[in-house]
Amino acid sequence: HPGSEVRVLIRSRPTANFAQELIEYLPDGQTVSVHQRKDSRKGVVNNQLSSWSFRLDGVLHDVSQEEVYGRVGRGVVLGALEGYNGTVMCFGQTGAGKTYTMTGATESYKQRGIIPRALQEVFREVEQRSDHAFSVHLSFLEIYNETLVDLLASVRGCPGVGPGGMAVVEEAGGGVSVRGLSLHPVHSEEAALNLLFEGEMNRIIGAHALNKHSSRSHCILTVHIESRSRTLSDAKYVTSKLNLVDLAGSERLGKTGVSFKVTSYLTFSHSWISSFHDKIPQFLPQAILALADRRRDHIPFRQTKLTHALKDSLGGNCNTVLVANIYGEASQIEETLSTLRFASRMKCVQMDPVVNEHTDP
Ligand code: ADP
Repeated sequence: HPGSEVRVLIRSRPTANFAQELIEYLPDGQTVSVHQRKDSRKGVVNNQLSSWSFRLDGVLHDVSQEEVYGRVGRGVVLGALEGYNGTVMCFGQTGAGKTYTMTGATESYKQRGIIPRALQEVFREVEQRSDHAFSVHLSFLEIYNETLVDLLASVRGCPGVGPGGMAVVEEAGGGVSVRGLSLHPVHSEEAALNLLFEGEMNRIIGAHALNKHSSRSHCILTVHIESRSRTLSDAKYVTSKLNLVDLAGSERLGKTGVSFKVTSYLTFSHSWISSFHDKIPQFLPQAILALADRRRDHIPFRQTKLTHALKDSLGGNCNTVLVANIYGEASQIEETLSTLRFASRMKCVQMDPVVNEHTDP
């Protein structure tokens, strides 16, 4: 694990209008080339193509949910049971398949996504590894417009937020946690799924009540795992956090129909950040751009609640996997390019996962 990079895979949503002439998956299974008609934005008729190639860790095209879990989720989940923090996140424009990838289609068991499969695997392993005593807790956080929402606050027996409300706080060991976020002990896959559904329900109800757009909120389901050996009677134990993240749509907001301007996205600067502050609620890209540029010594993690809450997952102590979801239709090619550019930046981010070992005092 140590010295690894973020793993990045591309997944394209199936569509009858897949732009085969513009999006080309190379036989190596890792490279995607995108061709764009020059001047298409200005409406100039021009048959010349500009091309870009992106080499990532894998392409998931026409791939079952089971295979996606195997290639994206399983390694991270098994690592978390050994004491490595893990994060799986999906990034891409609204409609590209982020929720399908993370949660899946609820009406069909076969189509369930990474989250329910990860929960199943956690409890299957916990049962099988009888030489270890595990304790598992869940938390479910939503971030909408810089507001932190506890999606499990409605659960019976939930302590409720203390004075001062919720906040992302730095821990002594260098990690981060969310103060005031409720943690729920879970002993079975079924209990975990019930919490997941309750949280999803609260997200939907909250979105209706406040007229929010759920595609603009980020959700982080965290599985907190603690394990100690039953056979060795020493004072050591390991802990980990497994973050399963459904990010807000990456498309530029405000002007519907206008795509994210890729050039300004790449010429990142502080003035640029502040001038667009209210137009782009998610700063994940900005922190990533800073991280990918190794000359920068200041990473603006604290600039947003999301990057602050995910600080460990972005260049820290974590095994991180990103799925870049793309909607492969010709009309969406600019969003696809912007998602792939972000994905290749993310791939440069160095991670430093270590087993979180502790000793009882
Ligand atoms: P997002 O979360 O990125 O906004 P969704 O996950 O809601 O996108 O996907 C949009 C629609 O496309 C949903 O109806 C979803 O079920 C469907 N969809 C997305 N990806 C796939 C896929 N790989 N296979 C089948 N259907 C998919």
